[in-house]
Amino acid sequence: MLAIVNSYINSLANALYPKICIGCGNTLLSKEEYLCIGCEMDLPLSNYWQNSDNRLARRFTGRVPLENVTSLLLFKKGSMVQEIVHHIKYRGRKDAAVYFGQMLGNKIKKTDSTIQKADLIIPVPLHANRLKTRGYNQCDYFAQGLAESLQIPWSAKVLIRPADNISQTKKRKLDRWGNVAEIFDLADTSAIENNHILLVDDVITTGATAEACITSLLQAKNVKVSFAAIATAIY
Ligand SMILES: [Zn+2]
Repeated sequence: MLAIVNSYINSLANALYPKICIGCGNTLLSKEEYLCIGCEMDLPLSNYWQNSDNRLARRFTGRVPLENVTSLLLFKKGSMVQEIVHHIKYRGRKDAAVYFGQMLGNKIKKTDSTIQKADLIIPVPLHANRLKTRGYNQCDYFAQGLAESLQIPWSAKVLIRPADNISQTKKRKLDRWGNVAEIFDLADTSAIENNHILLVDDVITTGATAEACITSLLQAKNVKVSFAAIATAIY
């Protein structure tokens, strides 16, 4: 009886507020959750998890030492992935960030990737001001999905972004030149000593932000770092 009532409520909710595909905006069928079947099949998967010597890993060569580098999707301007990321970042679709985290985790589990041996997952922190206006850090939810799938703990308390002030504004100007190395701090260095950290971000472009985070993480004793993103911007 309860199942019937639930299904009735679900279809009523769906009629009033139809769920839409976060890739193309079409109305979803009742069994579809985030993406329509067409978008699901067209997802531009990077397959980077199958090979540690991938294009994204090469983007970091000579900049910071990394154990393993991966990304779920490839990101192009104006593409379906841009839509997906927009929903995740600006339209409150934390659930989709968790979903993509799980998806990547499940793919990594099918390989012999060293990412599976990471001790702790750490999301790239969101700027305090942006966290205030947006209300959440999308990377936390991607981290959560990966953590669930890989059975690795995650924490947003280790790596922090100091609060905004004039010097931060100045530093952000330097951002254009890839010089952001000082804007992340380690709140608890001892918490990550001797650990393999998996740093996670939403979209990776030049890698400057990730590089700054990794530089901070590497200040702790005997730390190894891997990196995973929802999507890699290709250009
Ligand atoms: Zn779609």
